Amino acid sequence: MTKRLKFWGWGHEGDGLDARETNALLETFAEGYGIRPTDDGAFPTLDAISLAAPRLTPPSSLAKICTSDKFERMLHAFGQSQPDSIRIYEGDFAHAPDIVAYPESEPDIAALFDWCGEAGAALIPFGGGSSVVGGVTTDVGSGFAGTVTVDMKRMNKVLEIDEVSRAARIQGGARGPELEAQLKPRGLTLRHFPQSFEHSTLGGWVATRSGGHFATLYTHIDDLVESVTMVTPAGEISSRRLPGSGAGPSPDRFMFGSEGALGIITEAWMRLQGRPTFKATAGFRFADFFDAARAVRAVAQAGLFPANVRIVDGVELKVNGAGDGSFTLMVVSFESADHPVEAWMARAEECCLDHGGTVDVAWRDNPDANLQGAVGVWRAAFIRMPYNREQLTPRGIISDTFETSITWDRFEEFYHAIRDATATAVREATGQEGVVSCRFSHAYPDGPAPYFAFHGQGEKGALLEQWQAIKDAVSAAVIREGGTITHHHAVGRDHQKWYERQRPALFGDVLAAGKKRLDPKGILNPGVILC
Ligand SMILES: Cc1cc2nc3c(=O)[nH]c(=O)nc-3n(C[C@H](O)[C@H](O)[C@H](O)COP(=O)(O)OP(=O)(O)OC[C@H]3O[C@@H](n4cnc5c(N)ncnc54)[C@H](O)[C@@H]3O)c2cc1C
Repeated sequence: MTKRLKFWGWGHEGDGLDARETNALLETFAEGYGIRPTDDGAFPTLDAISLAAPRLTPPSSLAKICTSDKFERMLHAFGQSQPDSIRIYEGDFAHAPDIVAYPESEPDIAALFDWCGEAGAALIPFGGGSSVVGGVTTDVGSGFAGTVTVDMKRMNKVLEIDEVSRAARIQGGARGPELEAQLKPRGLTLRHFPQSFEHSTLGGWVATRSGGHFATLYTHIDDLVESVTMVTPAGEISSRRLPGSGAGPSPDRFMFGSEGALGIITEAWMRLQGRPTFKATAGFRFADFFDAARAVRAVAQAGLFPANVRIVDGVELKVNGAGDGSFTLMVVSFESADHPVEAWMARAEECCLDHGGTVDVAWRDNPDANLQGAVGVWRAAFIRMPYNREQLTPRGIISDTFETSITWDRFEEFYHAIRDATATAVREATGQEGVVSCRFSHAYPDGPAPYFAFHGQGEKGALLEQWQAIKDAVSAAVIREGGTITHHHAVGRDHQKWYERQRPALFGDVLAAGKKRLDPKGILNPGVILC
């Protein structure tokens, strides 16, 4: 029997932290930081929550692809953000979608647009529902007759593979494992691995400009797209398939990051790569976080383009049992389907040693180096991290992340400002010291993408307000200090007001005019990208 997805957390029912892992996590917070559980952390149940009757009835022509089943409505009411998690555990499902639709083709989507437009219903495109910024949260205010969530999971095929150019035409609803399984028999891979890979989709990645696991070169999905097809209420936009083009403003770039507010991405031609066979991973310890950051800069500016060049600070290592808080860890890895990578790794190692790094995992002696040392412990914890929140929220522990980017010349000052603003915000919102950590998710020749995490002792019943106060303070600091409100987590509802401050006002007007042309009735994902 196929396992059901959880409506309250990450992955399938039955998957998650076991009792030993949960206790270890709670002990770390309690003993290391004085953050203690306020409850026993039971998961919510379907029966304990009641939903209002659906306000919409689909026309008979759409009935076969629509449902108002209670579980499906609850599953599609939220994504995976911290406020989503808080509201789920508080049983706040008043805004659950009235209908969930599963289109099988572009004409199905066009018919859903027509019906929602006539009915005055909001329509929320839904890929894997892994948004951490309220992108699929169906809370659209009172200006609509109802809400329809359009789940793309039935449009999940690799339709065509061009082995000569190494590209594939892939439907928007294909989840990471589904599309990789269809490419694997040809020895090819999209090689785009966000941490949410298992439960997120190609259309969602393009719509949010997702960032993959690889830290340099092809960081965002943008770099892997050859052409896109997006169905809108005004018709279809399909860009031309080209390896590169200088023909004016790019239609692809207009669709990247449109977050379901301009149309539904139904398919894209994606650039593929050979499956890598040459691999090497090394780990280095640094006594000082900024020395580690300088080593990252040296590697990023050396033109080596490692698959991974990531630093993780002492706090994050300690929280995950991979360190005692006294050192920063740097992970460097190279991969190739074509050539040995030793020369590149040797040069990256020099950069690390030059900046005071000491070897944690020696790549020369150990072909399985990525499983050893602090690197191995942190990686194992990283894979399990998505399950932490469903254990922490019900126990009154606030836990969230945010990510940004900044040029190297401003990095150190920026880091101090953001770290201090986050620590202060957690203290002021919760009344006690919290935990703030930082790693780099991506590194460019001109700057890093710092990824912050914070945890704090919350108070059940007030968690949403406490989280909002922290979020507002850190977002204000990021914008004030010149960073981006998001490097790869997208805008969604949670970042909308900060995105409006970041983007030039005149550009906002142009975007609004584009939205008006494509979505004249304003039904698509209201409150996201354009209010
Ligand atoms: C545990 C975890 C780890 C994560 N790790 C990463 C990471 O490493 N890198 C990263 O970039 N993000 C990460 N995220 C965030 C999230 O996975 C990404 O934003 C992802 O790209 C969303 O894809 P999705 O298919 O789940 O889209 P959804 O969450 O379903 O939707 C996201 C947005 O895109 C819109 N949308 C979805 N599908 C379409 C479509 N076909 N056409 C038009 N609009 C559409 C939605 O309306 C919504 O606004 C993580 C999230 C979680 C929970």
